[in-house]
Amino acid sequence: MDEMPRRKTSWRILVSTLVVGTLLATLHTTPATAATFNGERLDFTKKMSPGTNIGYKIFPGNEYTSSIPAAINSLMYPPGSMSNPMVLWQTTVTANSQMDFYQYSKSASDIVAYVEVFRKDDNGGGYYSMGAPAMDAFNWRYAEVWLNDARMDELSTTKRRVTILHEMLHGYGLRDLKLAVNKASIMYAYTSGTATAMTAETNTVLVTKY
Ligand SMILES: [Zn+2]
Repeated sequence: MDEMPRRKTSWRILVSTLVVGTLLATLHTTPATAATFNGERLDFTKKMSPGTNIGYKIFPGNEYTSSIPAAINSLMYPPGSMSNPMVLWQTTVTANSQMDFYQYSKSASDIVAYVEVFRKDDNGGGYYSMGAPAMDAFNWRYAEVWLNDARMDELSTTKRRVTILHEMLHGYGLRDLKLAVNKASIMYAYTSGTATAMTAETNTVLVTKY
């Protein structure tokens, strides 16, 4: 009885992906209020609201039951003297979760994982998926993290945790960085990135946003 299905549209838009291969086209011009890092946009101007203290749910069939809590730990407890206001607690009640973790398997795809964010229709129309451009226009209510088991299986334990951390950060409104100069950032878009934990420029965005 704890499953409160959320009504949503059936179409799906890739908000962002951690991809192995080719560079995706960079969109949009940068709004004045957006954070940047080495010349690249680092965030969307809107956010998950409320997003500071949220539940997360690992849905049945998702086998990354240790990597996900490890990633959450990496988010809440960044290295060194960094801190941020993010708090997440595990729940089995869908209606109490704002960060949902699902698994799928697509071996023909380079996509390791992606995130979809959902807005609530204020006129009672339920929840619906937002595309990336809308993340500069409207706050969203919750995020779904989708892990491609076919690709996740190939990664080390560290890379799995880092991938999940990266995706969660998309759920909070961070964007992919694609310039090689940003390879050390947790928001670098490719699995060749070198970050193993939260990085400073990204943590600063969380502190500023939330
Ligand atoms: Zn990404």
